Amino acid sequence: MVTEGGSSTAPFDLAGRRVWVAGHRGMVGSAVARRLTETGCQIQTVNHAELDLRDQAGVNDWMAFHRPEVVVLAAARVGGIQANATRPADFLYDNLAIQTNVIHAAYRLGVRKLLFLGSSCIYPGRAPQPMGEDALLTGPLEPTNEAYAIAKIAGLKMAAAYRRQYGCDFISAMPTNLYGPGDNFDLEASHVIPALMRKAYEAHASGGSLEVWGTGTPRREFLHVDDLADACVFLLAHYSADEPINVGTGEDIAIGELARMIAEIAGVEAGLSFRSDKPDGSPRKLLDVGRLTALGWRAKTPLRDGLAETYRWFETHYDSARLRVG
Ligand code: GDP
Repeated sequence: MVTEGGSSTAPFDLAGRRVWVAGHRGMVGSAVARRLTETGCQIQTVNHAELDLRDQAGVNDWMAFHRPEVVVLAAARVGGIQANATRPADFLYDNLAIQTNVIHAAYRLGVRKLLFLGSSCIYPGRAPQPMGEDALLTGPLEPTNEAYAIAKIAGLKMAAAYRRQYGCDFISAMPTNLYGPGDNFDLEASHVIPALMRKAYEAHASGGSLEVWGTGTPRREFLHVDDLADACVFLLAHYSADEPINVGTGEDIAIGELARMIAEIAGVEAGLSFRSDKPDGSPRKLLDVGRLTALGWRAKTPLRDGLAETYRWFETHYDSARLRVG
């Protein structure tokens, strides 16, 4: 339960609690589950074949049986700029259904704490940079990921509404662009880092150049998924308020520069080639992480180190990773 006004400072202890990581097979969920093993909690998971989170009755039954005390809602349909633009119905339906089912069941079953994960694309496409939490709903969304953003905004508003109406300790975190082991390396559906890694791997092998979509001038902020997982555990313990909280590094980089870094890590010698027929998306996406920093949390992984480690993971998982579709 939360205090009136929606915030409380007493740390929430995870030790010994049943913590359900919804979406534990995904990049985020698996990182959260790995990090949670250090907290002394009892981690609960369920495979997609056993439970489709879009099935409300199934979610109710599973949660009533397993009685999680804490829920990390990391299950979502995610994808890059192209997947969002071509499959808006899937992005809306899947995400709305998953979050509605899990949040409502968590309320009904008296879940003590729930963390809903959104994304920085909830903020308007032309929001002033860096984007503070108060930029929410101040302007039109970036059209290339509007469907996903609308669903995520509904999710964070739902978590806040259950706090206000029912006193549930449900919180929302908005991570910036993520990367790391277990990402989706499918070229049509993936985000920029896994896409560039896969193309760089193949360009290195063939002696070709690294193909970069758009102009290379948009700027993005990138957070290693293990840093996000660490932030999630931190927020479960220390954050309890209506407003979503941004999770990022506070630094951004131009896509062209990112591509050069990845080309160097992968040993691509033929340089970059830019595909001007592909969209740039937002010119810049950088989060204001002042609220999280003030609570005492900072990202630890330098981008270059995180990229090199993720590339090594991709190389060793090349055959399975490139076939995964999100
Ligand atoms: P966004 O942050 O929602 O725009 O999602 P993405 O990660 O898909 O794209 C980020 C930026 O990287 C955009 O400007 C893309 O045009 C650019 N980009 C460059 N090459 C690629 C690529 O191969 N795949 C993707 N998804 N984006 C790329």
